[in-house]
Amino acid sequence: MEITGKTKLTGIIGNPVEHSLSPAIQNSAFESSKMDWIYVPLPVLDRQIPIAMQAVKSFFKGINVTMPYKQDVIPFMDEVSSYAKLVGAVNTIKVEEERLVGFNTDGRGFLHALEQELKFSAEDKKIALIGAGGAARSIATILALSKMKKIIIINRNSEKAENLGESIVKNFKDIDVDILSLNENLPKSISECDLIINATPVGMQNDEIPIDMSFVKKGQFVVDIIYQRETEFLKKSKKLGAKTMSGKSMLIYQGAASFEIWTQRSAPVEIMKKALEEILKNEKN
Ligand code: NAP
Repeated sequence: MEITGKTKLTGIIGNPVEHSLSPAIQNSAFESSKMDWIYVPLPVLDRQIPIAMQAVKSFFKGINVTMPYKQDVIPFMDEVSSYAKLVGAVNTIKVEEERLVGFNTDGRGFLHALEQELKFSAEDKKIALIGAGGAARSIATILALSKMKKIIIINRNSEKAENLGESIVKNFKDIDVDILSLNENLPKSISECDLIINATPVGMQNDEIPIDMSFVKKGQFVVDIIYQRETEFLKKSKKLGAKTMSGKSMLIYQGAASFEIWTQRSAPVEIMKKALEEILKNEKN
């Protein structure tokens, strides 16, 4: 990749960012599109956020925001998309004439993956969501916008789940919301859901599963948003006859959405997928 006097800057801020896969994915997209753009990782400390936002405004075309700053950057935005406002987090910033415009592409990435890869439409469906963290919030919100019928939010920390449930109830009056704690006996209603989603890191580094496999039934859809490996939860669900999807497509499509917001061009999704497979293969070796 050649840097010229005209190279346009994008990147990612967070702490840590060293392990982010986004630089390889986005740079592969710029390179294959023959664009003189570059994507760089920027490790930013808490106290550096105001300076980082000023630098982005002055020198960048756009930036991604990752943990733990997706909420902290909001006060620096000149404008926030309605979806990012509902989620309460920004993961993509576009610089428009020195104005910072905040978006959230996690939900769009998830929905696109669901529709493209699993051919699943959320409308009128019952959905069980395990987790109530940042990713779960963006997923619950996009599913609500897609008119799901019911959501069961299952989390270890009930307060966080209640908080997410309240936000859905407040903004989407027609959606039925149930809150459950992972620590209690879970009801049969979970196995009656059309889709079960794991939005926790359980199973990322070992063979733990987030809920008992007895809730998974043949023909159900099961998604695990972990992208580093095919989790035990997905492998077992597949064996039971469920239609499964890992977090790889969500990662790609949220990155593709950021690329499109910054460049106004369609993202080379297949190239980005290939770049991700390559990194994951190298990480395994
Ligand atoms: P987060 O905001 O820190 O939330 C973590 C969630 O997982 C919380 O609900 C937490 O429950 C739960 N959790 C953590 N450890 C647990 C355990 N041992 N047992 C049960 N529940 C546990 O993180 P996040 O940003 O939402 O990310 C969650 C996962 O999604 C990560 O694995 C991340 O890599 C993945 N992710 C994937 C994509 C993608 O594009 N594929 C995008 C974003 C995130 P408590 O509230 O009880 O702590």
